[in-house]
Amino acid sequence: HTLEETLLSAIRTIPDYPKPGIQFRDITTLLGNARAFRRAVDELVHPWAGSKIDKIAGIEARGFILGGAIAHQLSAGFIPIRKKGKLPHETVRVAYSLEYGLDEMEMHKDAVSAGEKVILVDDLIATGGTAEGAVKLISQMGGEIVAACFVIDLPDLGGRAKLEALGVDVRTLIA
Ligand code: IMP
Repeated sequence: HTLEETLLSAIRTIPDYPKPGIQFRDITTLLGNARAFRRAVDELVHPWAGSKIDKIAGIEARGFILGGAIAHQLSAGFIPIRKKGKLPHETVRVAYSLEYGLDEMEMHKDAVSAGEKVILVDDLIATGGTAEGAVKLISQMGGEIVAACFVIDLPDLGGRAKLEALGVDVRTLIA
């Protein structure tokens, strides 16, 4: 099977979740499939195998699962980027746009040091609002964003283009 076949067949689509008209791409089935999970992680990190990456920043919550595996593979540290109010120490906070309205996400202030090379990870990029917020937090602390990685791109929603316009190298596996 090609990579695309393996991944597409491992992702489940739930109609009308979380609200009518939305086709939710559910990667829990991919995570539960040993071959597909390994393949996705291997492919996401492939360009940076052997490079010195300091930190992987994962976006709550599915970005934690992929990001942890990627951090291990690249011998990098892991940084959680979370919804506001969840991190116990001093944080930097940013507002980001959702489909309807705004929310805020946070990162610990001491999670990234100036000049560290960071790869951002999440399961899916849609409008790119979430990833853009995470990029701002990492950049604010002086981290250098090497790339942003996602298993799934929803290209019609323009997220990849939004990140690329900020100068971020974007890697996605399927659209
Ligand atoms: P964006 O900010 O519009 O790019 O939305 C991306 C964020 O929403 C990511 O954190 C995704 O995990 C989540 N998301 C949006 N749509 C889906 C979906 O269909 N499946 C899984 N996650 C989604």
